Amino acid sequence: ATPTAVMVATGKGASQGMLIKGGHALEEAHKVKTIVFDKTGTLTVGKPAVVSAVLFSEFSMEEFCHMTIAAESNSEHPIAKAVLKHARKLSSKYGSSTEHVTEVKDFEVHLGAGVGGKVGDKRVLVGNKKLMRTFNVPIGPEVESHISETEQLARTCVLVAIDGKVAGYFAVTDPVKPEAERVISFLHSMGISSIMVTGDNWATATAIARQVGIRKVFAETDPLGKADKIKDLQMKGMTVAMVGDGINDSPALVAADVGMAIGTGTDIAIEAADIVLVNNNLEDVITAIHLSKKTMSRIR
Ligand code: ADP
Ligand code: MG
Repeated sequence: ATPTAVMVATGKGASQGMLIKGGHALEEAHKVKTIVFDKTGTLTVGKPAVVSAVLFSEFSMEEFCHMTIAAESNSEHPIAKAVLKHARKLSSKYGSSTEHVTEVKDFEVHLGAGVGGKVGDKRVLVGNKKLMRTFNVPIGPEVESHISETEQLARTCVLVAIDGKVAGYFAVTDPVKPEAERVISFLHSMGISSIMVTGDNWATATAIARQVGIRKVFAETDPLGKADKIKDLQMKGMTVAMVGDGINDSPALVAADVGMAIGTGTDIAIEAADIVLVNNNLEDVITAIHLSKKTMSRIR
């Protein structure tokens, strides 16, 4: 594209809440035939909320909540925020203040899986099944059936393990964005297919995909795995766009021909992207493609 065309399009984009970084994205976006969407915070509202807490173990609800709060309080993950809010509410309901929760030691973030650390003399893990597998925490049939029931409802099961045993879980819901289904179906009518990649589990991911009309899903994918999926598609000769909001999407946003960061997002995602959709509205994916088409047709 000519510098003038790019400047015009960039200005137009900016006035509609789209930050376009340079001409390359504008030159590529109209060629896109496949768009890969992150799930959490991209297709979903990204404000997860806990709908229930279930306790299995000998711990009291109060102890359970306190250990969860300690482990999650350093996490930036939206799921962590939801779990914290609920655990605090629960423990105050059980008459206990959360002001003096023991601080976590040896805190670790496991991207796409959860968090862990020592709380007092106990080793606490909060996250998904993958996290439990990594730390050899067994998941018995009773826990397993709770998990699958939760996931079939499109909810995410946040497991809490204390000293190597699953002590309970929080069921987390994150509704899909109101425009998601409409946008996916419109893209389809433009001849553009949509794919979901997510770090979340298969059952929850599939349930969410069904709600928005996406048929192809890659779940339980870590940040580098997301980027690999993009590269696989590119290897088949496709021009691929990636839409994501999180730090965990950064490698994929970089790998894609057109990386779109959506929402206020994390700085890292914004940095990795070619286009930033500030309004946090999926319709702007379509607007960006239209803008690219217009820019390129003006040149030819
Ligand atoms: P997505 O790709 O859907 O944005 P992530 O890759 O960030 O999700 O995380 C994948 C999964 O890992 C989450 O759905 C959740 O089960 C688990 N997880 C990640 N971080 C945390 C955390 N801080 N607390 C609990 N669970 C977490
Ligand atoms: Mg996300």
